[in-house]
Amino acid sequence: MPDDTATAQAPASGDGAAANPLRAGLPEDRITTPCSIVFFGASGDLFKRMLLPAIYSMHLGGRLPADFALVGFARTAYSDDQFRDYCRKQLEQFMPDDSKPQGPVWDDFARRISYITADFNDTRHFVALKDRLEQNDRDFGTGGNHLFYLSTPPSVFPEIIKHLKNAGLEKSEQGWTRIVVEKPFGTDLASARKLQQAIEAVFPENEIYRIDHYLGKEPVQDIIALRFANTIFEPIWNRNYVQNVQITSAESLGVEERGGYYDHAGALRDMIQNHVINLLALVAMEAPISSDADDIRGEKYKVLSAIQPPTHADVFSMSARGQYGPGMIDGRPVKGYRQEQDVAPDSNTETFAALRLYVENWRWAGVPFFLRSGKRLPRKLAEIAVTFKPIPHRFYGESTDQIEPNVLVIKIEPDEGISMRFEAKVPGPAEHIRSVFMDFSYGSGFGVVSPPAYERLIGDAMLGDQTLFTRWDAVERAWEIVTPILEVWQNTKDFSFPNYAAGSQGPDGAKKLFPDWRHV
Ligand code: NDP
Repeated sequence: MPDDTATAQAPASGDGAAANPLRAGLPEDRITTPCSIVFFGASGDLFKRMLLPAIYSMHLGGRLPADFALVGFARTAYSDDQFRDYCRKQLEQFMPDDSKPQGPVWDDFARRISYITADFNDTRHFVALKDRLEQNDRDFGTGGNHLFYLSTPPSVFPEIIKHLKNAGLEKSEQGWTRIVVEKPFGTDLASARKLQQAIEAVFPENEIYRIDHYLGKEPVQDIIALRFANTIFEPIWNRNYVQNVQITSAESLGVEERGGYYDHAGALRDMIQNHVINLLALVAMEAPISSDADDIRGEKYKVLSAIQPPTHADVFSMSARGQYGPGMIDGRPVKGYRQEQDVAPDSNTETFAALRLYVENWRWAGVPFFLRSGKRLPRKLAEIAVTFKPIPHRFYGESTDQIEPNVLVIKIEPDEGISMRFEAKVPGPAEHIRSVFMDFSYGSGFGVVSPPAYERLIGDAMLGDQTLFTRWDAVERAWEIVTPILEVWQNTKDFSFPNYAAGSQGPDGAKKLFPDWRHV
């Protein structure tokens, strides 16, 4: 665990702590040491919608250090004052009503903001950044600690890294230097390796924070607690008891304004290679020897290395792809993928991907892991469902066939919680058995709204805690697993596209791969 924490100045759990016995007596939040955080790409969409609100929310909650400064760095021309004004306008739009920027709290935040209008190819602008960081050390006591957040298109990452080094910003004389790298980390195995080479030539692995915002969601973090803070699950978490594992990440949205990006990406790259495979690793890994970042990340890598990527010949029997056509979502007609803005009218890009993978180790041999992700499915839903084996003999005679297997569902979105399906006798003289559920919901259980993933992840990067960031070996392995599928899908046109209607459960091929998908 990192050691650069200081005493908290605000209670972690806010007003709810006193009222909710589940949260009473918890220690206060960790607050990092002083630092400057630099956002490359601060005029972009992610910064205004996610990153800036996350930082401001940390400021409001007392989770930023008192000695803190923010530097925006992008091509759009702003003076410091214009950028402060821009930030304020974005916060007015993207913060909830009770957290809008105003009064002395905003004034204190605003005076810590500055901006550099930059040509990313010109070292002089990075030298200007160095001067600004030194100025922040003097004005705000930021102690020579620098967090660089790369929120530009990935094609610009190598350029930024090169110029950080040219300007002597790859390390700090007095403090720490860390670099957060937005997704996607490469667009295929070769480009990911190339990007890694560019980064590791300048920064060591313990300073690189590859972000996958999915991992910052509370229920995802709770997979570790569910498995390793309890004794009852681990003995049955293996091939002897588990029939299959289904991991779903579904959206009802289409590609919206991101058609230009998405048409070169597709569901396999955009969701499965990173978010969904990361979930698989957390669910299937062995127990780490401690909660330290590298113990957890080491186990995640091991389990991914136990997955054999399909051969090219196996791709069609182990996967299914789909592309949505016109259909209905929430009772409204929506257009098909090929009619979306910036999408090729004969696009071969998949908006739905499903895979069957096997983790070939002692624990999981023979248990299929079914992974799927798609756009324009009936609703937004992310969950992991562990289905257990049926009862071993025909205890109820013919009625045994009606008995459903137990299912443990880790709900990630939109509900956050855990649900267990089990069988119970219907009250009355007859032996009727029905499925019932035990449900735990984070919201009602702990009486809080989970903090946004970006808030947690930026806070962790400031603290030097890499647990929720993906290590290079796992990123590389995830690319290795999906590469044969990418290659086959890219090289063979699917003439059935569009092969599922918007608002349906996905293409028929997914049902052929696995008939028992849970309903989205
Ligand atoms: P945007 O396209 O909105 O812009 C990002 C920033 O990069 C802008 O500040 C823009 O500066 C700058 N930029 C764009 N092209 C160049 C270039 N050639 N050279 C230098 N700067 C450039 O991107 P997003 O904010 O949407 O995304 C940023 C990163 O976050 C990407 O890596 C993306 O994959 C990732 N991401 C985004 C998500 C989102 O919801 N937006 C979700 C998950 C990840 P300017 O306009 O001033 O020129």
